[in-house]
Amino acid sequence: MSYALIFRGHDFEYEVQAIAKIFISGVRFELCHGGEVSHAENQILTEYENSVFHVKIILQGKIYQKSSPASEKKSEQEFQLCEMLYQGLQELTGYQPPWGMLTGIRPVRKVLDELEQGKTPEQACKELKQKYQISDRKLQLALGTALVQKNILPHHLKEIGLYVAIPFCPTRCSYCSFVSHSVESAKNLIPEYVEKLCEEIRILGNLIRKYALSVQSIYFGGGTPTAIPAEQLKKIMQAVQEYIDMSHVREYTVEAGRADTITKENLQVILDGKADRISVNPQTLQDSVLKEIGRCHTAQQVMKAFSLAREMGFTNINMDLIAGLPTDTIEGFSDTLQKVLFLNPESITVHTLTMKRAGKLYHDEQYQQQKTDISLVERMTELSASLLPKYHYQPYYLYRQKNTLGNLENVGYAKSGKENLYNMLIMDDRQTILGAGCAASSKIITPEGNLTRVVNYKFPYEYLHRFDELMQKKNQIAAELEKLT
Ligand code: SF4
Repeated sequence: MSYALIFRGHDFEYEVQAIAKIFISGVRFELCHGGEVSHAENQILTEYENSVFHVKIILQGKIYQKSSPASEKKSEQEFQLCEMLYQGLQELTGYQPPWGMLTGIRPVRKVLDELEQGKTPEQACKELKQKYQISDRKLQLALGTALVQKNILPHHLKEIGLYVAIPFCPTRCSYCSFVSHSVESAKNLIPEYVEKLCEEIRILGNLIRKYALSVQSIYFGGGTPTAIPAEQLKKIMQAVQEYIDMSHVREYTVEAGRADTITKENLQVILDGKADRISVNPQTLQDSVLKEIGRCHTAQQVMKAFSLAREMGFTNINMDLIAGLPTDTIEGFSDTLQKVLFLNPESITVHTLTMKRAGKLYHDEQYQQQKTDISLVERMTELSASLLPKYHYQPYYLYRQKNTLGNLENVGYAKSGKENLYNMLIMDDRQTILGAGCAASSKIITPEGNLTRVVNYKFPYEYLHRFDELMQKKNQIAAELEKLT
């Protein structure tokens, strides 16, 4: 099956694509502009001509057409065209998207904005439902998350987060779009990478002191931080202890991530480095699915890694799962949830599979032909939302990504008091976060609420070879931090 999006006479390409992907996800669209002709079997045409919008959809042999005079207000036109397209796709497919027309990545922010304007939760939900046609289930999920966040999120400009990127993994998962290099292929880079990373942490530490900032949260992500040798991880954690004032740190997470990297030795390094939270991420506990997605470990290894972490004294462990993995079933997903609940971690994050261009899966012809059944993925996310609160896990952060199956969400569920501050802050864009390491980005939030982003080089070899240039970027960070004083 081939699919094309044809745009004529307007520049709402981004939003039109987002609406189309709500109904038709996990496929590659041919994009045509102006007079370009497509021979795709399925076509979605959106056109603006002589102050009239036209939508024509040809989908699996069925046709929908509608024209409507465009609003005179330019600011309303984008929404108008999207609504026309949404209605057409809904009519042809009979599908009621759970998040309705809402395509942004932060549904919770919409709810928080309404609450901050003085609306009651009921009023907020009513307005969002009317405008975006969101289902009651998803509105309740977003509202519940917003109410948890409202009481936790700090608002002090000088309280910041620190992110440290370690972009190496044992092997690459089929759906992965991160900048992550397999340890085997990048082995030689690791010592120099660690050296430079420690230097960057030192420089950031100086800035943090100079501008009297207080680090509230530290997060080691990647990649898989535990994929590098324990002595290298130790050097990085020692650099954090040496250069950063840890006295205000409320939480310190290291993503141990993959079970095939978790050893007694590196868990001890994490404990010695004073991190108090780790992630042991199975994604699924079905061996056949683990194999399918290219993770070289078994469910049994995950259980063992988790038990080892508990025995060694970790009292705050997160586990990540993914709904919609290739070949997974509702029975498999449910079994995974039950096994994770049996382990009783402090938090469980349920992601929905995202099809990014940088992931191998996106280019897998066989996967493209089989295409995951979206209703199955919905059932998986619904199962998590109904089951986890029964075991005292409440949703505390929620976000969506582009190209996620069914336009569904990623939700962090945690037991009370175990909500991860960093995860909430990164989504809310309300607190300055300084990033170290390749592809890490620093986000500085000014008193006026403006956000400046300074991004490090994406790939390890660039990070190493252009390190001096990168350090010059720190002047830009310093100039922004100056505004917080
Ligand atoms: S463990 Fe995470 S970062 Fe590493 S390859 Fe898999 S998805 Fe990517």
